[in-house]
Amino acid sequence: MRNYIDFQIPESFGVRIEQGRPLAPLTSIKIGGPAEYFATVHRTNQLLKLVRWARSVGLPYLILGGGSNVLISDTGVHGLVIHNRCRTIRVDEPVPSDFFVDARPFVFAESGALTAGVARTAVQAGLTGLEWAVSIPGTIGGAVVNNAGAHGSEIKDILWNALVLDQEGQVQDTRASHLGFRYRRSILKRSQALQPGFDPVVLTVNFRLQRGDPVQIRERAAHYLEHRRRTQPVEPSLGSTFANPPGDFAGRLIEAAGLKGYRIGGVMVSPVHANFIVNPGGVGAARAEDVVRLMDHIRLNVLQQFGIELEPEIQWVGKWSQVR
Ligand SMILES: Cc1cc2nc3c(=O)[nH]c(=O)nc-3n(C[C@H](O)[C@H](O)[C@H](O)COP(=O)(O)OP(=O)(O)OC[C@H]3O[C@@H](n4cnc5c(N)ncnc54)[C@H](O)[C@@H]3O)c2cc1C
Repeated sequence: MRNYIDFQIPESFGVRIEQGRPLAPLTSIKIGGPAEYFATVHRTNQLLKLVRWARSVGLPYLILGGGSNVLISDTGVHGLVIHNRCRTIRVDEPVPSDFFVDARPFVFAESGALTAGVARTAVQAGLTGLEWAVSIPGTIGGAVVNNAGAHGSEIKDILWNALVLDQEGQVQDTRASHLGFRYRRSILKRSQALQPGFDPVVLTVNFRLQRGDPVQIRERAAHYLEHRRRTQPVEPSLGSTFANPPGDFAGRLIEAAGLKGYRIGGVMVSPVHANFIVNPGGVGAARAEDVVRLMDHIRLNVLQQFGIELEPEIQWVGKWSQVR
């Protein structure tokens, strides 16, 4: 069997490949087995070189951002997990020119920057458009892939462009309109079931934001943060487990089915918000299979009681005991 550790990664990459690194601590629900191969990148050129190297040796990879939207199987991930910690964020003022009259500043971010950090930078700079994102977990790369959103706004509303490493290994300057955004999806989100492969990688992004009243911007951001603290559980979770069905709310249906507080293994339906499955015990206290069984139980009960089929919002990574 091929051992990729034996492949020489050029020392100039400044990247070390580990074997068997536990992934649970790197996910928001604190569940999941180990990565066969694992590397952390801190700069975009490391990410770029590592992905190109993995392609050149035929080693499938998976980008892990904040791990806040993926359920990793108990057996872990076969391939290379690249933990993205490329976190530069910057406000770029427009340079006046005869050809370019738009005076709106850009906010630049490397794809491993925390979404909340990007939003806070914008708020502090008196820029409006990202206040809703101050409380979104995970990285901006994951937020672009998922077209993350809240309070009626989404990434697609303010994203200008992204540098994307395409499937041929070329870096493409991609305008937001070419990313096929729709509700919590983009063309970069392949499918609900995810395995390491040779998929495109978001390297950096630019948001185009408006100047606004700094006091109002700060107040809006504080309001969204406070709303979240009041309405969502604090225990480890993956956020909303199911997408809202047309004209209704998954949380309302699960609560109406009497499932708040329902437990399987180490996980339970949150008593605070029924669309959240929480792992109160943290790392080591629950299994991915517990989450899967609880999700199946929820779907069956909601279907039997209301005739509505709930669709998962999260992605599954790795091998499962039954086909998902
Ligand atoms: C408590 C809680 C609340 C949440 N609330 C919201 C909410 O209000 N709105 C909302 O939209 N979401 C919400 N989420 C879900 C989640 O935070 C978002 O989907 C988030 O944007 C995912 O980012 P991530 O970095 O954690 O992605 P990950 O979970 O690490 O990855 C998600 C997918 O993106 C891919 N990916 C990540 N980075 C890159 C990259 N650079 N290039 C290519 N592919 C990449 C991964 O391979 C994977 O397929 C919530 C989650 C939690 C835990």
